[in-house]
Amino acid sequence: MTTDFEFDPAFMRAGDPRSTTSRKALLTRLRESQHSEEKFLRARDDGDSPPQRPSVSPRGEPPRDWDVIVIGGGASGLGVAVDAASRGFRTLLLEQRDFASGTSGKATKLVHGGVRYLAQRNFPLVREALHERGLLLKNAPHLTRPLGFIVPAYRFHEKPLYQLGLKVYDFLAGPLNIARSRGLSRDKTLAAAPTLAGEHLRGSVLYYDAQFDDARLAIALARTVFDQGGLALNYMRVTSFLKYQDPNFPLSTQRISGVETVDVETGETFRLSAHCVINATGVWVDSVRRLDDANAHPMVKPSQGTHLVLSREFLPGDAAILVPRTEDGRVLFVVPWLGHTLIGTTDTPRSDLSLKSTADPAPLEDEIDFILEAAARYLTRAPARSDVLSAWAGLRPLVKEKEAEAGKTPTSKLSREHTIAVSTAGLLTVTGGKWTTYRKMAEDVLDAAFVAHLLEVRPCQTEALPLHGAPKPGTSLGASSGASFGTTPGRTAANSYAAASAATSFVSSPGHPLADTPEAADSPAASPPDDTPAAGPDASSHWASGSLGGGTGAARVPANDDPSLAVYGTDGPQVAQIEGADEQIVPQFDLTIAQVRYAARCEFARTVEDVLARRHRGLLLNARAALAAAPRVALTLATELGHSPVWIEQQLKEFAKAAEPYRVTRREGDPLPPQPIPPLPSQSVLDLPLAATPAEPPVPAPVDAEREPVNASVQLTPAGPLA
Ligand SMILES: Cc1cc2nc3c(=O)[nH]c(=O)nc-3n(C[C@H](O)[C@H](O)[C@H](O)COP(=O)(O)OP(=O)(O)OC[C@H]3O[C@@H](n4cnc5c(N)ncnc54)[C@H](O)[C@@H]3O)c2cc1C
Repeated sequence: MTTDFEFDPAFMRAGDPRSTTSRKALLTRLRESQHSEEKFLRARDDGDSPPQRPSVSPRGEPPRDWDVIVIGGGASGLGVAVDAASRGFRTLLLEQRDFASGTSGKATKLVHGGVRYLAQRNFPLVREALHERGLLLKNAPHLTRPLGFIVPAYRFHEKPLYQLGLKVYDFLAGPLNIARSRGLSRDKTLAAAPTLAGEHLRGSVLYYDAQFDDARLAIALARTVFDQGGLALNYMRVTSFLKYQDPNFPLSTQRISGVETVDVETGETFRLSAHCVINATGVWVDSVRRLDDANAHPMVKPSQGTHLVLSREFLPGDAAILVPRTEDGRVLFVVPWLGHTLIGTTDTPRSDLSLKSTADPAPLEDEIDFILEAAARYLTRAPARSDVLSAWAGLRPLVKEKEAEAGKTPTSKLSREHTIAVSTAGLLTVTGGKWTTYRKMAEDVLDAAFVAHLLEVRPCQTEALPLHGAPKPGTSLGASSGASFGTTPGRTAANSYAAASAATSFVSSPGHPLADTPEAADSPAASPPDDTPAAGPDASSHWASGSLGGGTGAARVPANDDPSLAVYGTDGPQVAQIEGADEQIVPQFDLTIAQVRYAARCEFARTVEDVLARRHRGLLLNARAALAAAPRVALTLATELGHSPVWIEQQLKEFAKAAEPYRVTRREGDPLPPQPIPPLPSQSVLDLPLAATPAEPPVPAPVDAEREPVNASVQLTPAGPLA
C-alpha cells in the first residue's frame, strides 16, 4: 500500500515547504477526510453516483471518514494503528501530546518474557511474551538487541533454583529463543559483572532477554502507520464522541460514530466519523471512557515505576544484573543502556494523581531512596544522589480485575495482562499489557472489533511486518549495502544499538572473561543454539545472518559507519546527508543539528522536549546536559518550523519545567556534582534565518538558582532577523 503523503528527506531542506509545513499537509489531509459520509449521502440524494468505497462495516453502514480511529499514541495505540492499517483499514491515530510521551517512553526498555511471571507460574503469559520478543527482534532489528542478564546467587539453594527456572524460560521461548541460559562460577560472574557485590556471592545464572529503545520504537511504529497508508497525528486531543441512533446495533441504540478532536497547537476542532473507535489511552482510559458513559466504572489503577540513570562506571561490564527478590521482595534491574546504567524500578500505587493532568509524574523521594539503597546492597560502590544523572517515572495502567469483571459493560479478558472492553455504545477500550506484547494486544483488539461487528474480518499481517527503518529480510545496512553514513570523530554512540550490540559479543570475544569457560561452548557465538531445531525460515535466516544476535553481535544491527545513526535503520544515510551532521550539540550526547532537523522534518517533533526526551534520549540520560542542549535544539527547531524568538523563549521555559522532575536534588553531606557542562562553540545553526518576529528581546538561557549550575549560555542572538 502506498501513502499519499511521502516523507522524503532528500527533498527536504530548510525553507522547502514540505519541511516546514509537513504538519500543515497532514492537517489538510485530515480536513479533507471529514464528512465523507455526508458527501456520500448528498451525492446519492442528488442522483450523482457516489464515490465507491469498499464497505468495511459488517452491518452495511454508510461510509465513514475513517474505518478505524485510535485514541492514544503509546505502545497500545500505535500497535493497533499499525495492525489496522496493515489489514487495509483506513486508519487514523490521534495523540494528545507526543507519541510515547506517556508510559511508553518510560519503560525499563526490556523486551522480555517476564521472569517474575515465571515465579508466579503464569506460563502461557511468559510463552506469549517470549514469542513476541522473538518477533520484535526480527521486525525491528535496528531498535532491539539481545542482552545477557546475570542473576546473582547469594544463598546455597538459589543457583540451582534459578537455573531450573531459566531452563523453563528457555524452553518456553521455543524456536525463537535467543541463547541458552547457563550457570556461572563466582569468578566468572565477577569477571562479567565486576561491580557486583562479591561478599557471600556463590555464582550466578546467565540468561538472555532483549533490550530496546521504547520511544524510538514508538516513532518507528508511527512511521509504519504511514507506510501502511494510515495517518498518525500528535498534539490532537480527543474531547468527545459523536453518536447516532442505530436501531440495528446489538449493544444499544446510541452508537459511537466518531470523535471530536482539537488541534492542541491551534485550537482547531475536527469532527471525524469512523466505523470503529478504539480507546488506547493507558492510564487515561477511564477519562476517555467517561466521555462515552459518565457512569463508567474505573478500570485502571495507576502504579508508578521510577528509574534512575547513573554513569556507565556503575556497570562497566556488558551484561545486565537482575536481582529477582530484593530484601523487600521487589525485582531490581541494573541495565546498561545507551552508554549509561539504568536502575529500577518501583511499584508505587498512585491513586492520589489527577489523571486530568498530562504532566509527567515525578519520581518520589522515597522511590529514589529505595532504588539507591537497593543498588548499594548489590553493587561494590554505593551510588549517591549526586551520582544520579536523571530520574523519571512512568505509570503502569494496572487493570482492576473486579471492576472489569463486575462492571456493567461486557468485557473479554483475552490475556491475564491486557484487558479489552466494549462499551454498550461500541467504544473498544484496551489497557494493561506491556510493550513486549504490543503487537499481540493489537491483534486481539482488531479481532474483538470483528466479534463486536464493528469491522469486517480481515487477517492480521503484523507477525512478519518489518517496522519502519528495518532492513528488508535478508539484507543489512552499512558497508555491505554501500550506505555511507557521515562520521563524527570523537562522538559517543550513546544513542546507538549498533554500538551497544557489541555488548552481546561478550561471550565470544577472545580473552573475554566468559569466552574461555566450558560454558562458552554453549554460547550462540560458538554455534547457533542447538535447542532451536524447529526454527522457521525467518528465524533460521536471522540466525544465519547473525541478525538475531544471541551473543554474536555480528551484523545483527546494521553495521553503519556512524553507529549513532543505527537507530534510524535504513533512514540513517538520509540523516547523515542533512546539513549539520557533524555538529554535535553537547559533548555528553551524540545528538547533532542534522538529527534535530530530521526530527522536525520527518519524525513529527514539535517541541524541544519531543527532541530531547524521545527522538533522542538525552533528557532521560542526563538532565543537566539536556538543559545545556536545549537552546540550540530550540533554535534549530525554530528555523525548521518557522517559529519566532518568542516561541524559543516559551519552549526553553517549558523545557526547563519539564526537565525539573528528572533532576535529583542533593541532600546535605552528599558529594558535590560534576563540573558544570561547558557549552560547545557557536556553530552554523545560529546563522539560519528565523521567522520574522516582532521586536522581542533575545531569549535568556534557563537559569535555576536553586540547582547546581548548568551552563546553557549558548549565544542565541545570531546575525539576521533575531538580532
Ligand atoms: C516503570 C515501567 C517500566 C516498564 N517497563 C517495561 C519493559 O521493560 N518492558 C515492557 O514490555 N513493558 C514495560 N512496561 C509496560 C509498558 O511500558 C506499558 O504497558 C505501555 O507502555 C503502555 O502503553 P499504552 O499505550 O497503553 O499507554 P501510554 O504509553 O501511556 O499511552 C497512552 C497515550 O494516550 C494519550 N491520551 C490520553 N488521553 C488522550 C486523549 N483524550 N486524546 C488523545 N490522546 C490521549 C496519552 O497522551 C498517552 O500518550 C513498563 C511500565 C512501567 C510503568
